[in-house]
Amino acid sequence: STPAVMLSAMAAAARGGVLFKSSAALDALSRVQTVAFDKTGTLTQARMTLSHLRADDEQAALALAAGLEAHSEHPIAQAVVKAAQERGISPVPVTDAQAVPGRGIEARLQDGRVAWAGNLRLAERQGAVPTPAQQAFLSELGQRGRSVVLVGVGADVLGVLGVADTLRPGMADALRELRAAGVAHPVMLTGDREEVAQSVAQEVGLTEYRAGLLPEDKLRIIGELPGPVAMVGDGVNDAPALARADLGVAVASGTDIAIESADVVLMKNDIGKLGGAVRLARDAQRTVR
Ligand code: ADP
Ligand code: MG
Repeated sequence: STPAVMLSAMAAAARGGVLFKSSAALDALSRVQTVAFDKTGTLTQARMTLSHLRADDEQAALALAAGLEAHSEHPIAQAVVKAAQERGISPVPVTDAQAVPGRGIEARLQDGRVAWAGNLRLAERQGAVPTPAQQAFLSELGQRGRSVVLVGVGADVLGVLGVADTLRPGMADALRELRAAGVAHPVMLTGDREEVAQSVAQEVGLTEYRAGLLPEDKLRIIGELPGPVAMVGDGVNDAPALARADLGVAVASGTDIAIESADVVLMKNDIGKLGGAVRLARDAQRTVR
């Protein structure tokens, strides 16, 4: 049976908004060496807004992007849909919409052609190459630390969108506390590109990060990091990583599947609570041994 000291540690953690699903999770957290963070929605608020739009026909590009993104759960998608709404632009209806993990979304137009919205990887998949002008705009967005969405039909890139995200408040302190609690390696894993990853890492004071990762890359890296490894995430596509890690930690604002796949849930979305939870877990373990 679970020692009383662990039960009371779990209760104390729960009062602070850190929900351990089992005493094994508390035990695992007490040993964690590496904490891997997803970027979007975990370190950042994922309350994204459309900041840039460049296309020959901006209305048409945004209408198509919104029509596609209406079928996606990704935080980037919400920003695009909202931007179209605010401008009174009706989304283009599409069918057979399919999320392409780590890339974006694809669907069919009413005339049967494939339309898509996502990153350069997705464009590549469609055989679409940005024009030199689009390339220049993409690097400008990179310098500004913006995530990008390309929107296209078949091999044509119709527009380029820039999306801004904001950090969750207190992230730099949260990571400092985690290190102070004895977690040697906080690291960010993201599917977003290098420039965006670098600017977020700098802002929160993270020295370790890996960018441009596909979901399968994240899984592999979790297996390679110095263990035991905790993974903190929020999204549908974080679920496999949460399950693969020695300990999965979900933020409660995340998707149901992430919360289900996790061993620990941060009920108040407060990553600042993690350092304290590590301390609590270590103290409880020390008492039990
Ligand atoms: P992360 O949470 O680290 O951004 P994801 O695997 O969720 O990782 O996404 C990786 C990248 O895939 C995103 O940064 C974005 O470029 C692209 N992407 C995924 N889904 C979409 C979408 N619905 N619309 C546009 N881009 C997307
Ligand atoms: Mg995410």
